[in-house]
Amino acid sequence: MNIIVLDLEWNQNSLGKKERSSDKPVFEIIEIGAVKLNENYEMTGKFSQLVKPQIYHTMHKITADLIHLQMKELKKGKDFPTVMKEFLEWCGKDYIFATWGPLDLLELQRNIKYYNLEPLSDRPIKFYDVQKLFSLGIMKEKTRKTLEFAIDYFKIEKDIPFHRAFSDAYYTAKVFERLTNPDILQFVSFDTFHIPKDKKEEIKISFPGYFKYISRGFDTKSEVMEDREVASTKCYLCHRNLKKKIKWNSSNGKNYNSISYCDVHGYIKYKCRIKKSENGKYYAVKTSKFITEEKMIKLQEEWNKGKEEKKIKNMKLPNQK
Ligand SMILES: [Zn+2]
Repeated sequence: MNIIVLDLEWNQNSLGKKERSSDKPVFEIIEIGAVKLNENYEMTGKFSQLVKPQIYHTMHKITADLIHLQMKELKKGKDFPTVMKEFLEWCGKDYIFATWGPLDLLELQRNIKYYNLEPLSDRPIKFYDVQKLFSLGIMKEKTRKTLEFAIDYFKIEKDIPFHRAFSDAYYTAKVFERLTNPDILQFVSFDTFHIPKDKKEEIKISFPGYFKYISRGFDTKSEVMEDREVASTKCYLCHRNLKKKIKWNSSNGKNYNSISYCDVHGYIKYKCRIKKSENGKYYAVKTSKFITEEKMIKLQEEWNKGKEEKKIKNMKLPNQK
């Protein structure tokens, strides 16, 4: 399987939010750059193409300052459907995307949808978020770093300028080459532009130290937490359903927390985020993680405090009229 290291540049509407028409993507892709790596992570091909703008015909200041591209250069490019066709042919059949951060795949699919082209997939796409691999695998922390930070960290020669699609794809590939340890590569990501359509497509995956579940879509937010699978608190090592030590609680109706206890493996903390998908459905991303007893007590105090504060806030409301 090949790895397609992808980077996009995009322009955005120069008008304010109000003038934006809702059917247009906020970001119009103006350049696609990519590097192809083979199974041994060797560069075997490159792709670089400007896209002729069809949606926004003036260059946003941020875009112009960042990538030094002028409209008249872009007009020499090919239209998005043509570039996409050539790009996918170049990608071949058996590949996985690798990008710096999760946005490129999202914006690519938004543009594909706008032009009514065939979707990349009808379900979540497994990919390598190289920025995440670098943070978790090398820095051992969750904070995301810039591409330039990673380049400096590995002392990679900066032989071509940054902030053009091909160069950023090239540098991302250079960083990726240094992250190909299987322990690091197991932190794969899933793009959820298309969420799982049914139970069969739902994602359940183990990572070192935690477990992730991505649910199918529901019409309303409340239906999500009412679903048995979403609300269940299992031990992901022995797969038993566990009784909750602390029931699902939420301070904002979007992020839910709970804790359960497995006799064999200890305390497990569950975090469930309810998200809205591109097609307007609601779905859950639930992670489970083992925690110590001290951590459990600390969280319990924190959440109780949050509950108290909420109560006081609610009590005050009628008097404030
Ligand atoms: Zn267990």
